[in-house]
Amino acid sequence: MKKTATLSTAILILLLLGCAAVPRTTLAEYDAEYPAQEPAIAEAAKPDMRPMIALTFDDGPSEHTDSILDVLKRYGGRATFFVMGYLVETWQDTIIRAVGGGNEIAGHTWSHRALPYLSRRAIIETIQSTSAAIEKAAGIPSPFFFRPPYGMISQRVVDVSADMGYAIVNWTLDTWDWRLRDADLVYDAVMRAAAEGDIILLHDIHRTTAAAMQRVIPSLVAAGFRLVTVSELLQHLYGGLEPGKIYGRRIMAE
Ligand code: ZN
Repeated sequence: MKKTATLSTAILILLLLGCAAVPRTTLAEYDAEYPAQEPAIAEAAKPDMRPMIALTFDDGPSEHTDSILDVLKRYGGRATFFVMGYLVETWQDTIIRAVGGGNEIAGHTWSHRALPYLSRRAIIETIQSTSAAIEKAAGIPSPFFFRPPYGMISQRVVDVSADMGYAIVNWTLDTWDWRLRDADLVYDAVMRAAAEGDIILLHDIHRTTAAAMQRVIPSLVAAGFRLVTVSELLQHLYGGLEPGKIYGRRIMAE
């Protein structure tokens, strides 16, 4: 009985000594033991540093817009749609869906008339009525930039835009999709030339462009690009958009 008690006490003392003798786990050892947690935490806190590209789609919406929204959603991309004012009400569901997916809806005027040949009053009217239609359909304010039809501007268009508080957003890369009308050729046109900071001109009224996007969007993402809206890109590049300023190609009417 006494012997057992003594033995128990001895074991207890040994155990206590043993515990005290175990050195503290160092941070390096802890990291080695739980390596999986470290990158996961670091990854979540890290800002997205992928080079940006802004895909832009003009002249719609149309029956082809939804398939572009589908593939954008599937690959975590966003785009900007420069819509026609007269089409907004008809395609309200598509516009709501686009906005819900983080895409941007901006105006491309009401009916695609070349702005340099319009009066000051008419320029204001076509821009304002399109913004109002977007706001009504989407339930959110239209951004303070637009794309002139044919990208065409004049000093009057620039002055009116500045007075209205709007920036002018053209493109840095023209894919010629409206003329090519071939999904493979449109795919090649984008993939051959697309680079960081590009604003790419496309048209979601063509079946062939929508078909090309089914391959272009996954390929750009696989190539390491982040597909963002015009606002996101210009915020990143210039800290925002300036009224009356032209972003992308400058196409002055004679
Ligand atoms: Zn257009």
